[in-house]
Amino acid sequence: MQTILVTGAGNGIGRAITTHFHRLGWRVAGLDRDSEALDELREAIGTDSGLFPTCDVGCESDVERTFGEVVEWLDGDPLDCLVNNAGIANPYAGKLEELALGDWQKWIDASLTAAFLVTRAALPLLRRAEDASVTNISSTRAVMSEADTFAYAAAKGGLDALTHSLAVSLGPAIRVNAIRPGWIETGPWQKSAERSHPDHRPQDCKQHPAGRIGRPEDIAEAVAYLHTAAFVTGQHLNIDGGMTVKMIYEH
Ligand code: NAD
Repeated sequence: MQTILVTGAGNGIGRAITTHFHRLGWRVAGLDRDSEALDELREAIGTDSGLFPTCDVGCESDVERTFGEVVEWLDGDPLDCLVNNAGIANPYAGKLEELALGDWQKWIDASLTAAFLVTRAALPLLRRAEDASVTNISSTRAVMSEADTFAYAAAKGGLDALTHSLAVSLGPAIRVNAIRPGWIETGPWQKSAERSHPDHRPQDCKQHPAGRIGRPEDIAEAVAYLHTAAFVTGQHLNIDGGMTVKMIYEH
């Protein structure tokens, strides 16, 4: 039985990835700082093949403490797949002149610092696997922006750079790739207190050549693909329904 560890597993895309791999028969470890969301996931998946520790993955001491638990749980088995998914979903920081250093740091820590801390802690466990993979969940915002989203864009650009640098440093035993999701509707994958099923405007769907907004399941399937894609490493895969290749001019 293979094992995957997903950060930010409690809600949204992370919850969908964790559920997808559980359904494929994997053992799953899901980390999140939202303990209420983790309780629901533990209830749904069970503890026979799941571990769901509360952890702020941007905090070094928390990551070290949590990996103590993960090592014990694995009991000498390898970690086959790591997904650095945690991040602050809302990209809007407001005006640059009003952006406090502490607020900037929140975006950087949740995406970029967390990926460094968690990959470093997971390394000895990944090295036990015959063919290990790391997937970092970046964003199309690593390469394009709306106004006033500085810290989010910088965190994801940094994550893309960390991805190719880790691929070069950790290969051939460990492959490292990034997925850049576009607009993914996570309402149906939130914890029950915050779950929603919004309708999307026709013009928002039309902006995507694929004809719809993305689903968390689309990202989970891409993680599964990257795990088995033996000759793919250091890459950044846009999963955005074609949104980033479409010009915005109306005819
Ligand atoms: P979400 O808010 O639904 O889920 C994110 C989860 O990460 C939450 O459960 C949250 O508690 C957890 N988390 C955040 N910071 C954490 C920390 N420091 N330690 C532990 N857990 C933490 O968001 P989502 O939309 O599912 O986003 C998941 C990832 O996908 C993020 O990295 C986000 O930037 C990226 N992404 C999302 C979209 C989108 O349209 N939804 C688009 C591009 C990229």
